[in-house]
Amino acid sequence: MKGQMRARLVYAVLAGAAADLAGLGLIAAAAWLITRAAEQPPLAALSVAIVATRAFATGRGVFRYAERLTGHDVALRAQAGTRERLYESLIPPQRPRVGGADLLSRMVDDTDAVQDLLVRCLLPAAAAAIAGLTAVVIGLTILPVTALVLLAGLLLAGALLPAATAAAARRWSARMAPARAELAGRVADLVHGAADLSAYGAGDRALRDAGEAGDALGRLERRQARVHATALAGGTLVQVLTVVAIVLFAQAGGVGTVGTAVLALTALVAFEPVLPLAAAGERYAGIAAALRRLREVRSASPAVTEPATPAAPPSPPLTVEVEDLVVRHAPGGRPAVDGVSLTLAPGRRVALVGPSGAGKSTILAALMRLVEPESGNIRINGVDIADLDSDDVRAMMTGLTQDPYLFRTSLRDNLRLAGPEADDERLARAVRDARLEHWVERTGWDAELGEDGSTVSGGQLQRLALARALLYDPPVLLLDEPAEALDEETADELMADLLDVTHDRTTLLVTHRLKGLERVDEIVVLEDGRVIQRGAHDDLVSRPGYYRDLWESEVLTRR
Ligand code: ADP
Repeated sequence: MKGQMRARLVYAVLAGAAADLAGLGLIAAAAWLITRAAEQPPLAALSVAIVATRAFATGRGVFRYAERLTGHDVALRAQAGTRERLYESLIPPQRPRVGGADLLSRMVDDTDAVQDLLVRCLLPAAAAAIAGLTAVVIGLTILPVTALVLLAGLLLAGALLPAATAAAARRWSARMAPARAELAGRVADLVHGAADLSAYGAGDRALRDAGEAGDALGRLERRQARVHATALAGGTLVQVLTVVAIVLFAQAGGVGTVGTAVLALTALVAFEPVLPLAAAGERYAGIAAALRRLREVRSASPAVTEPATPAAPPSPPLTVEVEDLVVRHAPGGRPAVDGVSLTLAPGRRVALVGPSGAGKSTILAALMRLVEPESGNIRINGVDIADLDSDDVRAMMTGLTQDPYLFRTSLRDNLRLAGPEADDERLARAVRDARLEHWVERTGWDAELGEDGSTVSGGQLQRLALARALLYDPPVLLLDEPAEALDEETADELMADLLDVTHDRTTLLVTHRLKGLERVDEIVVLEDGRVIQRGAHDDLVSRPGYYRDLWESEVLTRR
């Protein structure tokens, strides 16, 4: 595959160089033809040049077409390969710590950089180098000093100038990014805060601030455009001066009219593929930054280390023991989970309760092997989960994630995600257990869900997610805030159904609502990553403390 890509790349470079050379040949042959024709020789003396001119003109088009076709083919393949490797590096647990929106832009824009690098920088540069060197060789055969002048001019316009534009672009983008962010922020304030701004008569000032931010960006952009134009004009100036110098040297060197014309026009044309390299240099700065960001994603250290030789996964019934678990998200930062121990015996249900940020989701993440504990351990039937393949761990312990996602496909396929082999009967049972059968009867199994699909309420979404989890049927069920963001009535109904269906299932339930928790075996109350209370509901409400306060305020708000 790699060899094939390399061959295609070489082919594209050669086709590009051939197109440039045909352009060079065309001008050289035409120059010879025109100057020689002015001397009015017999027509037969011109026939070879006439044929050559035609052949070069046709060849240039054909070679350019071949170069574009192969060049883009190689570039798109390389881009696809990069995307594929990026996807691979994102599969948990190798998932790097890059946010969703940022990641999306890396997937889309930054992988385009791979294509740009090949099509806009490397291929044109290689083809220009071949064409330029050929022109230098032509110069050598006529008058060596002109070849040296041409070489110097080409290096100036094709290497020094692009390097300078690349450096300038890097500097400018560093200056313009904050100005652009400032303007975007001001405009966002204007749009989102329009009502408040007009209520307090502050609209004019906000408009003036946004205008100033726009002017500041405009000034930077104009200055950047001047630098850009100067760089491009510089290339043309080098081209003209080189040609003039070559003509002077040719005349001083006693080269005839035809030879001088050939030298001058060859030099003129040799610059054609070289001049756009200044703009390519400018582009390269952005491409290099994109490639750096891609490398960052790919080389981000995996969230957890897989064992070299994974232990055999224990078979159910499973007992999960968490002992002195400490998890820190950022080195040197505050631990998110700080010395938590708990046991999930077969068929027992444990609830994790505590304020937001207490570390509840982090414990679930550690159980699912999505984060590496700093110390302490998690054992399933005595086997440390660090010694197990993380996919095996998730096959044993998984469940409802905090933000269940609906795919843009049918209801049936959205459920089958968790049980590809499930027959209709099993699907129907999961839907019944999640108390979704009425909704499914109305909507139909083939209804399209997700964006643009049938609308699904928050409660239905959680029930769909629950049905998925029930279909997957892991020996240990993890439920992360299933009633989050639901109105009270829907949340109560969902929790009641959830507690019914998890009866006798080994379950770890993360929740901030206490209603119904009298039905679980143990409640572990967390604060700042530590266990502050634990016990059964009746026991906890009888003692003063966080749980009783929370229970009382919940009862009060229900009245
Ligand atoms: P809970 O689920 O109880 O709301 P979390 O486990 O989500 O709490 O968070 C516990 C602490 O860890 C919080 O202070 C939170 O800011 C921090 N935290 C959670 N996830 C990350 C992460 N991926 N990177 C850095 N810090 C995190």
